[in-house]
Amino acid sequence: MVYLDYSATTPVSFEVQEAINKATKEYIGNANSLNGLGVKSRELLNSATKQIAELFDCEEGEITYTSGATESNNMALVGTCLANHKRGKHIIVSKLEHPSIYAICDYLKSIGFEISYVTNDSEGLVDFEHLKSLIRPDTLLVSIVAVNSELGIREPLKMIRQIIKKENPTTYFHSDMTQAIGKVPVSFKDVDMASLSIHKIYGPKGIGIFYRNKIIKTNPLIYGSGKTNLLKPGTPPLPLIVGASKALRLALQGQERHEKFVERLNNRLVKQLEKYDEVLINKTKYSIPQILNISVLSIKPETLIHALDEHQIYVSTNTACSSGDESGGVIAVYNDLHRAKHTIRISLSHLTTSEEINKFLEAFDSIYKKFSELK
Ligand code: PMP
Repeated sequence: MVYLDYSATTPVSFEVQEAINKATKEYIGNANSLNGLGVKSRELLNSATKQIAELFDCEEGEITYTSGATESNNMALVGTCLANHKRGKHIIVSKLEHPSIYAICDYLKSIGFEISYVTNDSEGLVDFEHLKSLIRPDTLLVSIVAVNSELGIREPLKMIRQIIKKENPTTYFHSDMTQAIGKVPVSFKDVDMASLSIHKIYGPKGIGIFYRNKIIKTNPLIYGSGKTNLLKPGTPPLPLIVGASKALRLALQGQERHEKFVERLNNRLVKQLEKYDEVLINKTKYSIPQILNISVLSIKPETLIHALDEHQIYVSTNTACSSGDESGGVIAVYNDLHRAKHTIRISLSHLTTSEEINKFLEAFDSIYKKFSELK
């Protein structure tokens, strides 16, 4: 098997599995209970949160555990808009966001918020002048993805924050950092709120993080009891939280080394794939090496995915969350519908081997030739 869909999700690393097993077996108490077992679980929970806060140089109370980045994005946008709607009802997002952000914007629009979409240049970089012109006294929130999930385009969060705060210091800045964590450096200091998902960094599915600077008011999305964090009431999923803390530590430790290794694999793939007449490489100078998006103009993406499946090679169409549609990222950067309807995303990891790249290239070559002959 050749797995090249690491941006959709990752296998859980051995160390993380061990940490989850230990917490499951040895910490059976409810962290909200007052009894001895509950206190023991609470201590483990606190120490996992402390470690995460240290990794990101933030306060423990600024971290909320969610079920994943979709929920974190909802907290950031819906929760914050509901809590602050009296200050304004205007939101700005980029054209390179994850589909979950657009779905949330549609909802917010239906309850009276106004959404503006900031454009980007031909490299995918947010247009700073356009952003400046969109910010108004009633702009409550700007949300810009740290790394786009389709083309891997990385946005300069620090600079974007400076622009936002200069235009309107009361506008909040959220970034969906799901595809950035463990791949490229990010800092919570560059944002007011951030979304993360642990299954993208060799951790378990079903847990994410919502970071929110303590000065920001956000409403909960669900109501209940508990003493962890009132934004997310209920019994904390301790084994998942312990797994998240471990996965984050490992991801941040290995990040620089892994990035360099993956860059070499990416360059090799690009060099080989750009030789095909019907292949366009959807990569700009801001694309990170872990994500390689291509358009194969002569083959429908679903057909290509299934043909690769037969070789036990697994890639995505544009993103796992928007399979079947045209790629919004390719439209935003290249403004070419045909190109956008023929994308596949190959996502790489430090676990990817040279041999796997060879297998992919061999299979791709035979599929491409077969379809060229059929034309
Ligand atoms: N944001 C981005 C940028 C993503 O890539 C994804 C996962 N495809 C999500 C949000 C949603 O993450 P989750 O599956 O954890 O809800």
